[in-house]
Amino acid sequence: MTAPSPMTASRPRTGRRAAAALVLLVGCLALQPGAEAATPAVPAAVVPDLGREILAADDGWAAEGAGTTGGSAADDAHVFTVRNRAQLVAALDGGSSVPKIIRIAGTIDANTDDRGRELGCDDYATGGYDLPAYLAAYDPRTWGGAKPSGPQEEARKASAARQAERVELRIGSNTTLVGLGRNAVLKGASLQVRDADNVIVRNVELRDAYDCFPVWQPNTGGLGDWKTAYDTLWLRGATHVWVDHVTASDKGHPDEKEPTHFGRNYLRHDGLLDITNGSDLVTVSWSRFQGHDKAILIGNGDTVTTDRGKLRVTLHHNEFDAVVQRAPRVRFGQVHLYNNRYVVPEGAAYRYSIGVSTESRTVAENNSFTAPGHIEVADLLKSWNGSALAQSGNEFNGFPVDLLAIYNAYNSGSERDLTADVGWTPTLHGPVDSAAAAAKAVARGAGAGRAG
Ligand code: CA
Repeated sequence: MTAPSPMTASRPRTGRRAAAALVLLVGCLALQPGAEAATPAVPAAVVPDLGREILAADDGWAAEGAGTTGGSAADDAHVFTVRNRAQLVAALDGGSSVPKIIRIAGTIDANTDDRGRELGCDDYATGGYDLPAYLAAYDPRTWGGAKPSGPQEEARKASAARQAERVELRIGSNTTLVGLGRNAVLKGASLQVRDADNVIVRNVELRDAYDCFPVWQPNTGGLGDWKTAYDTLWLRGATHVWVDHVTASDKGHPDEKEPTHFGRNYLRHDGLLDITNGSDLVTVSWSRFQGHDKAILIGNGDTVTTDRGKLRVTLHHNEFDAVVQRAPRVRFGQVHLYNNRYVVPEGAAYRYSIGVSTESRTVAENNSFTAPGHIEVADLLKSWNGSALAQSGNEFNGFPVDLLAIYNAYNSGSERDLTADVGWTPTLHGPVDSAAAAAKAVARGAGAGRAG
């Protein structure tokens, strides 16, 4: 295994103020014809060092308390530039909490062995696992509604464990994972921040956390459904996390191209970003969630009452493009959702955008929704046992809309009406723009490769 190469020449700087000062300094030098030429090191340093940047003092829930600094305090021995899975795994150091900055250069595929050889689903399959045999064994017409068990399910589990060992990558406390330049990609991985604090993920495209071995769950949703294992990014028991200028999608393997088995879409992907199990103080900004079914789940169970008072999340200046549902769906959390841009292309599958579930207290301000004619304002919200949503300044196809009033007017009675009283007012946030201005800025500036 190749060891990650430590970056030299990185000077400890604290965030964008220093970078901005440097830009000003260079500008001043340029204005003085008589001034001595700058040292050759200066032009390179003008490119902001994203790895050393920290979350601004008021930028959403992740700024609460000690704020979010990620690996900005790393010493030079813990600044890594990684170009393949083996180097990335070595730099992550088993989820250690030593301050570290990990810079992804180019495209890294998580589905590779330690020598860098690509691994396909056949390479993971073991114990005689075979999809046609699996389908024959658990066909509801013959197997019925019991949970799959027996040789094919055992083989599926063993095969899945082999893939999980490759693609699940754990990020520890005090870590910044950042794309280098404009084209950093991490393919096939499920990044997991588990029981960790103070993590930054920025400027990287996270693509196609593809599950080779979905499991059949006969009792899901009445008709049964396929359950996949991997969230592209999963925050579980994670606090102070800043996700910024990330692009997350299924690119390469869109689920709508997958076949139907047992009458259900054979899904290959789970969430793009799931925030669960007591996670708290999270800011997701200037990111792009694209071409996916279930994008962001905040709180994964109505009975997980330990999430009460936690799951405080700010989502701002993100784009949800061709997302079918969960943008986000919230249980328990105090979520501030402002200045996001939602785009449903003509012909794309769509269920709803904002999911209001048990004890959620979402404040949705100045978001912009663009959707084709068959989608109505009442479709944008869905409630399962929700009770409240505060909203203002939202626009639908260019017109101001009151999401709450319209939801309640169309509510069929299977759910109670929602009130506007969420019991809190967001205080940690930057300037809130009009929905229209934010939509333009997001279209231009959100996603990987557009930071700095
Ligand atoms: Ca999930």
